[in-house]
Amino acid sequence: MTDRIREFLKNRKEEGPCLVLDLDVVRDNYGAFARTLPDTKVYYAVKANPHPEILSLLNKLGSSFDVASVPETLAVLATGCTPDRISYGNTIKKESEIATAFKLGVTLFAVDCEAEVDKVARAAPGARVICRIHCDGTGAEWPLSRKFGCEPEFAADILERAHKAGLTAHGISFHVGSQQHNVEAWDRALASTAAVFRTCAERGIMLSTVNLGGGFPAKYVRKTPKLESYGKAIFRSLRRHFGNRIPETIIEPGRGMVGNAGVIEAEVVLIAKRSPEEDTRWVYLDIGKFHGLAETIGESIRYPIRTRRDRDEAGPCIVAGPTCDSVDVLYEKTPYPLPVSLAIGDKVLIEATGAYTSTYSSVGFNGYPPLKSYVIAPTEPALAA
Ligand SMILES: *Cc1c(COP(=O)(O)O)cnc(C)c1O
Repeated sequence: MTDRIREFLKNRKEEGPCLVLDLDVVRDNYGAFARTLPDTKVYYAVKANPHPEILSLLNKLGSSFDVASVPETLAVLATGCTPDRISYGNTIKKESEIATAFKLGVTLFAVDCEAEVDKVARAAPGARVICRIHCDGTGAEWPLSRKFGCEPEFAADILERAHKAGLTAHGISFHVGSQQHNVEAWDRALASTAAVFRTCAERGIMLSTVNLGGGFPAKYVRKTPKLESYGKAIFRSLRRHFGNRIPETIIEPGRGMVGNAGVIEAEVVLIAKRSPEEDTRWVYLDIGKFHGLAETIGESIRYPIRTRRDRDEAGPCIVAGPTCDSVDVLYEKTPYPLPVSLAIGDKVLIEATGAYTSTYSSVGFNGYPPLKSYVIAPTEPALAA
């Protein structure tokens, strides 16, 4: 929560839940990433929050961008960013999408299997490809499963196929899982990456780049390590596995760039007791899983919820959204402590909701409109780095 967001909410007249983003926080986060990993290029993962003013600010600051689709590519290009600062990181692309991105000037694509190499070779001849290897996501609150990435032992073959098809085998990427709490999570992936670099070199293919992905946390309820600890641990691992021949590196922060820049204001619609004896209350908000809080699936992400009555005694609550769908429950397995004095009509603040919220909001389920987003412009002119 920042003073600027507090001030904005005080003056807001409209009804309904909203997300407010403070761009000063995004600017500071970009600076922190650039300082903490000074030899690494920052590619903002657009999917975390593609708000045009966020993209525009990051473009002015000198950021590059990780995109997953043609519309995301267009949104980045609309800021004036040149296509050489775009990485098309989605490993699942239609050939027509690759061709469109290539026509727009994008020349860096992620792949994780032979069929995708063949598509890129046909649709984007001569482009650079990065092969994504699989990570198990241990230590992450939002792991990325087996959906992406080949087994590391297969990566050299995939890159060799790219090389033979006239593409530039550029390097390796991985993602250690989002909201990663273990600062050492990059180590094992970097050991595998160094092995792929060696195998490729033996085959006469010189890789140049390691894409270290995202995973940098936002601060929710649980404490997280400092960004500096991640930077130090990653640098130690690069030294350990690459010696004094450290390759070019890229990071793709999404959550860590915008998560703490946003606050959702919502309202208590109903507080219900299901039996006279029970302590646990059901608290229904005017926002739920279908209006931006999808990352509460499996109760993975536990957002800080603040009320005006937080000094009062707290009791356990099941927190749910307003829709007629029974999955629209945010926290039940682990009840959420909220003030006993909490009342219907109270406003609540759901903090650290700048990432993975607004775009997850449905278009009109049960007639509720998508989550409104407001941005507060940066105070200082954001000069190019
Ligand atoms: C989603 C995504 C990211 C961002 O991950 P965070 O954990 O939010 O930082 C980075 N790279 C790729 C390829 C992604 O899909």
